[in-house]
Amino acid sequence: MVRIGKLVVVGVGLIGGSFALSLKEAGAVGRAVGVGRSGRNIRRALDLKIIDAAGAFDRATFADADLALLAVPVGQMRPVMRAIAPLIGAKTVVTDAGSTKQDVVGLARRELKAALSRFVPGHPIAGTEKSGAEAAFAGLYRGRRVVLTPLKGTERGALALVRSAWERCGASVSELEPREHDAVLAAVSHLPHVLAYALVDQVARAKNAKQLFSFAAGGFRDFTRIASSHPEMWRDICIANRKALLVELRRYGGELERVEKMLERGDARALEALFSGARGARERWLKDTQ
Ligand code: NAD
Repeated sequence: MVRIGKLVVVGVGLIGGSFALSLKEAGAVGRAVGVGRSGRNIRRALDLKIIDAAGAFDRATFADADLALLAVPVGQMRPVMRAIAPLIGAKTVVTDAGSTKQDVVGLARRELKAALSRFVPGHPIAGTEKSGAEAAFAGLYRGRRVVLTPLKGTERGALALVRSAWERCGASVSELEPREHDAVLAAVSHLPHVLAYALVDQVARAKNAKQLFSFAAGGFRDFTRIASSHPEMWRDICIANRKALLVELRRYGGELERVEKMLERGDARALEALFSGARGARERWLKDTQ
């Protein structure tokens, strides 16, 4: 069973903080050190005992780390990788939790130099709309999936360490090609976030926005909950994966046109068939994932 002597988490927010907490709860980590951008968040992470110490971008923090998790927004991966490349030890395994994989893999190839073979790209398919150390909790990954997108040259030992760390968090681990990962996530994660943001924006910009919000109920709230997700994080994800996201957005535009035509024709039968099909698909999905 894996035991990580020293874990360094860069970006102790929802994802990085929950990783540290989950491994601690499982007794799989000796010491967790956090490196952050905001002093306030790192102090909060210390108060909440998510990390045991605050580190910095220096050799004392990285040279003897067994595992370093990069859990910063994907737009921050380049400066972080550039900063740690000369600092990490000869045995340190590096992984990330970024929501997009082709861009992160491309950056790692350019920035990580000698450590590239010990880099295991990853993405936990788990989260909430909350952010920061405050939002972290130990059970976040229990029963959830994690995708790893190892490279041809990834060391087997590094891959095994990262896989078993996520398993100790209670997750089940799959492997995908980075391109396949980004296409799948564009359809079922990135597109829904864009739709939620766009809908709330449309309502907010209406002349009678106040009135509209005052009559909005549970359905609107459920549909738009994800529009309260972290704007910087989602900006970075959308820009990094814009090619795949545009494919899905255009496909969705076609679907909306189909619905528009049904409404123009007053085609109740076609509309009901579409709604029933969607409801059935959701029910089967929930049953399969229980
Ligand atoms: P978060 O905002 O909760 O945490 C990110 C942390 O990184 C913050 O504490 C921030 O201060 C810190 N940070 C930012 N830039 C930094 C830098 N240059 N150096 C050091 N620290 C820095 O965000 P999160 O939800 O934990 O997301 C982290 C990563 O995980 C992102 O890449 C995101 O795409 C990915 N992810 C998020 C979710 C989700 O649902 N929230 C799910 C899976 C993966």
